Amino acid sequence: MAKKAELVFLPSTLPGHIVSAIELAKLLIARDDSLSITILLIKFPKTPNFNATGIRFIDLPQLDPPSPNTAQTPEAIISIFMENHKPLVKDTITQLFFSSSSDFDSKGTRSRLVGLVIDFVCTTMIDIANELGVPSYLFFTSTAYMLGLMLHLPVLDAQIHTDFKDLATELSIPSFISPVPPQVLPLPMWTRNQYGYTWYLNHGCRFREVKGIIVNTFAELEPYAVHSLTSDGRTPPLYPVGPLLDIQGQILNPDQTDFENIMRWLDDQPTSSVVFLCFGSSGSFSAPQIKEIALGLERSGHRFLWSIREPPQDRLALPGDYTNPEEVLPEGFLDRTAGRGMVCGWVPQVAMLAHRAIGGFVSHCGWNSILESLWFDVPIAAWPLYAEQHLNGFEMVKELGGLAVELKMDFRGGDDDLVMAEEVEIAVRRLMDSDCEVTKKVKEMSEKSRRALMDGGSSFISLGRLIKDLMEN
Ligand code: UDP
Repeated sequence: MAKKAELVFLPSTLPGHIVSAIELAKLLIARDDSLSITILLIKFPKTPNFNATGIRFIDLPQLDPPSPNTAQTPEAIISIFMENHKPLVKDTITQLFFSSSSDFDSKGTRSRLVGLVIDFVCTTMIDIANELGVPSYLFFTSTAYMLGLMLHLPVLDAQIHTDFKDLATELSIPSFISPVPPQVLPLPMWTRNQYGYTWYLNHGCRFREVKGIIVNTFAELEPYAVHSLTSDGRTPPLYPVGPLLDIQGQILNPDQTDFENIMRWLDDQPTSSVVFLCFGSSGSFSAPQIKEIALGLERSGHRFLWSIREPPQDRLALPGDYTNPEEVLPEGFLDRTAGRGMVCGWVPQVAMLAHRAIGGFVSHCGWNSILESLWFDVPIAAWPLYAEQHLNGFEMVKELGGLAVELKMDFRGGDDDLVMAEEVEIAVRRLMDSDCEVTKKVKEMSEKSRRALMDGGSSFISLGRLIKDLMEN
């Protein structure tokens, strides 16, 4: 009887991580039709539904998320939430593959479970793979640099005994060319013995236990980090298979008809004339900061499309759209900028970046947003906000030799930490200057990102190597 090889994916609950996991699954089954994939979804109460042809999705029963008061940081909340689902995950996989009743599909074909593909915030699930005697693969949805930092964190933890926030010196991390200022580390790493720090450390300690690490990057983008990790003799085999992107923007934005007025407005604008501002699924600003951005945009004189979102009331919720954004904008702003600017809420970002009118992107430096902007050849002004985004901003601006314009790069700390209108104005002017060096570099990298996925490209080859290793294990 023919045995179909099957992979089970365990993405984290974050939509950005789920989208890249789905894209990885799509690439794998398109490349090898003897592979099939099941994605086990662990969802927060408001996580949307996901679908993709040829992939089996199983929603696990929802458990209550941990209290933000005990878990302290988003990293800890998600890690604890995933860990709480461990028994459910094990039961589901056992029923699917290891019980006598369920391991034949409708055609009588028996599936062979060849691996668990585990999001990097779910390392606790490595135990399940070990208990079931199945290889585990880590799926790293962020940069090779961040991977290098997390792999090195146990060493830093043993060497440095003060909080990183109190360090007067920069850090030497093997996968980085430049010394790393502690201010660009993810905020929860700043203070030892905080839940966020402990979770980063726990995950980093376990990364070397897996059979291989799949990274959503491409070798040409992060050559130094990729080379350092593949040649250190200690990191499991690395598979840079990106960029894994939902280029149609259909997964997060299945219905784009609500945005036709924005598309019509963009259609009327000159090529590369509009700066787009958008800050990810969780980015929002205080009212004073919104006023500074508005003034900066107004003074820059450039056309703009600005997605602004209202801060959530509840720490576990995501920002929503303002019912009336005028409440937080400076008086008369919308009238003064009418015709040359648009303010909106959530928008299908990929469709915006793909539009020929968009010439620059003020971004929070989420890794998906960076990969999308490179794909569509739109330069970024870096304004990181949360998670590992400051490290991503540092990588783009410094480590990769000017692949983004700097707007604000490190945490300055404190709620009154405003980026002033003048800083926004200067960064937008630099970003929209077509002679800017960053623009040329981004164009070259954009071409490389597309070539990486083509037959014979670096990520294409990596994916082939991954499939071969999966099948041989
Ligand atoms: N996104 C979108 N519309 C928005 C904001 C975000 O479509 O208004 C999409 C964006 O295209 C990207 C994802 O949401 O695919 C955000 O992922 P990223 O890693 O950039 O940031 P995160 O939300 O995880 O911080």
